[in-house]
Amino acid sequence: MAVYAETVLRNGTVWCGRQEGTAEAVALWGGRVLATGSDADLAPLIGPGTKVVDLRGRLATPGLIDAHLHLLPYGLTMLEVDARPKSAPTLQALLALIKARAEALGPGQWVLARGYEESKLDVKRHPWREELDAAAPNNPVHLVRTCGHISICNSRAFELAGITAQTPAPPGGVIEVRNGKLTGLLAEYGRDPIRKVLPEASDEDLVSAIERAGNYLNTFGITSCMDAAVGMHSHFREIGAYFTAERSGRLPVRTSMCLLGDPGPKSIVPEAFRAGLVTGTGHDMLRVGPVKIFTDGSAGGRTAWMSQPYLGGDKTLGVSCQSEAVLLDETVMDYHRKGYQMAIHAIGDAAIEQVLSSYEKALAAAPDADRRHRIEHCGFLSNDHMARMKSAGVYPAPQPIFIYDFGDLYYSVVGTERADASYPMRGWFNAGLKPSASTDAPVCDADPFPNIYTMLTRKTGKGTVLGGQEALAIDEVLQAYTEYGAFAEKAETKKGRLAPGMLGDVAVFSRDITKATPEQILEDTHCDLTIRGGDIIFDRHGEMR
Ligand SMILES: [Zn+2]
Repeated sequence: MAVYAETVLRNGTVWCGRQEGTAEAVALWGGRVLATGSDADLAPLIGPGTKVVDLRGRLATPGLIDAHLHLLPYGLTMLEVDARPKSAPTLQALLALIKARAEALGPGQWVLARGYEESKLDVKRHPWREELDAAAPNNPVHLVRTCGHISICNSRAFELAGITAQTPAPPGGVIEVRNGKLTGLLAEYGRDPIRKVLPEASDEDLVSAIERAGNYLNTFGITSCMDAAVGMHSHFREIGAYFTAERSGRLPVRTSMCLLGDPGPKSIVPEAFRAGLVTGTGHDMLRVGPVKIFTDGSAGGRTAWMSQPYLGGDKTLGVSCQSEAVLLDETVMDYHRKGYQMAIHAIGDAAIEQVLSSYEKALAAAPDADRRHRIEHCGFLSNDHMARMKSAGVYPAPQPIFIYDFGDLYYSVVGTERADASYPMRGWFNAGLKPSASTDAPVCDADPFPNIYTMLTRKTGKGTVLGGQEALAIDEVLQAYTEYGAFAEKAETKKGRLAPGMLGDVAVFSRDITKATPEQILEDTHCDLTIRGGDIIFDRHGEMR
């Protein structure tokens, strides 16, 4: 009896992997790759029931993997006021959006907004508390900066949270006061009292957030992601939401759940560990990933923890979230001994130093040649850090898109030299540190095309080139977005390449981006078709209907 493929994509270019190179066609069966080869090679696999995708010269690649984003919060954010520069280029426009939402919701309801970036606003500063008061006098307002590490609140929000100008900032947090008054700005742990009074999402809200954001990822050919801090919004309930989403067919994207593990009550690790949820538990759709700890903020927000001061008068070194170094060491050791991979957030070189030395101690005490602890972002590291990462087997999980979205801001906050050396994709490739690609959405949009563009060019949105020597070739870019994303979650034997037996996850792009200019990729390329486990889950033009 002849065995036919369920789906064959042919008549185009199939990028199978960096080693594998390209083929003309790929055949899928049973949710996996059956074969790759020339159109002629695969013709015998086409039977009466086989779906045939005519690529017409387009490019098919392994489904993209966004190695670090925040799926559930992204889905929630999609319902909030869109304060990103695209929608709110001026302070007036931003305040008008907040006013309109407040009026639509009615008095007393929380107005939640996300995505402003002060350097892209016409006023070149954060909004003030009083400005939010004027826009929404009868509603509490919580406006989150693009980085997610800084918030601006209005007076109603502060009243509900019990924050006054006299409230001391907690360790690792900022409650900004000028001339004896709250400015509205809070950073890091300074936001804890606000978090306690924000409206609680229902279980259904959480599941639909996962589904909404996952469907959006599918429109870009993204078939896998890591939710980089499960528990950040609704604690352990988020685990339940993920399982519910998966069980009920509402998880559109394979997800590795990175568990929030900040020392203290925020950690969901004790509960997860008791339930047997250790790194690797689960299956190809939903798996327990590493453990996340935050050690600093963001460079653009001047809260990433640096060894040298930021530019500007205040000589700040940023914010260290784990100021008790011993506590971080102990926590890392504990998770390491329990068998978890770790994915610690560190952007500034002082934070990277702290994390790396915690990893080194844990690995020295309990060696594991292939634990693959990660440093999330890892933006401003030294050559010494690079060498130590290599010898410890610690990998970076960077967001090249930060160069595109925030590169010009980096020049103004840390100067040319440090900005040019940031997020050194070429350096990591050369060192064998297998940098994955990701967007940290909702920090940046999950759209992979600007991310690919800036990996190829090191250009910002304004066209400034930051450290052009760190640019990659298109083959390397695709490898970062597929194979290295799989490697980062220890799944490189299952996905990230198109070879027989690998998961049948495929993205089809509107043009062959291996032959396009970076500008064509940025401005005039989209994903036409997304296949996950052999199923067509996104079909832009309805070509397979
Ligand atoms: Zn993140």
